[in-house]
Amino acid sequence: MPETDSSTRPALTRRRAFAAVAALAAGGAAVTLVASRDRTDTPAHWDYEAEGPGHWAELDRTYRTCATGHAQSPIDLPSHTQSHPDEHIDIEYNVLPMAESVNNGHTVQTNLSTGNGNRILIAGRPYELSQFHFHAPGEHTVDGRGVEMEFHLVHKDAAGALAVLAILLEPGSGSPFAPLLTALPATLGSTTRIGPVDLRTLVPAHRAQFRYAGSLTTPPCTEGVSWTVLRTPLPVSHSELDRYRSLFHHTNRPVQPLNGRQVTLADN
Ligand SMILES: [Zn+2]
Repeated sequence: MPETDSSTRPALTRRRAFAAVAALAAGGAAVTLVASRDRTDTPAHWDYEAEGPGHWAELDRTYRTCATGHAQSPIDLPSHTQSHPDEHIDIEYNVLPMAESVNNGHTVQTNLSTGNGNRILIAGRPYELSQFHFHAPGEHTVDGRGVEMEFHLVHKDAAGALAVLAILLEPGSGSPFAPLLTALPATLGSTTRIGPVDLRTLVPAHRAQFRYAGSLTTPPCTEGVSWTVLRTPLPVSHSELDRYRSLFHHTNRPVQPLNGRQVTLADN
């Protein structure tokens, strides 16, 4: 997903253009429209199917890093890794009074306005929460084992650098995700109102953290993203999982090569 705030609108525009072209082509006309359409104005359409992860780099010049990058996400996390207790992050969340979830064609995402007061601190440096969204199946694996779903909370610092906090989700009872996964925006571009949501309930009490340097897991796969994946999973109910899957069959990028990057574990 969309780790950036990117492009509900461009994606919609492009989707409509594709639909129009497809409709015309199906009627036996206007194949030339494809060639004449300006491909530089909006980000190229991408998905997890025909235009899936193995093809992202071919879809648009700005997606090249998806194939050429050497610090890509997600990755397989080794549970027996070096422990660096000093490198943990601090999570400062509170209650989100109200927000909107949008179906952006790739996932269900909630964008927050700046100054919302929710943040994480990495080595004392604050990153404000800017959006959160889901993937199913999960994207990161631990010792080769994946989970059913993954929750990404995307943060930005004052300079625009990104830090993502990832929570692994396994089917079970006691899900805290009802406020986010009960009423989902069913169609592309539609929204549902959520809140209040106590964001503190969406983070496991045990904070053992994998940390590494990676990228967005969706186009344009930009690197320089600080990743923190909490080792302890949270439960998500079967019905919440099914509801999400009924809209998005699968929304995960496969794990990427580590290429010598260091993964640390802060066990606190
Ligand atoms: Zn994501």
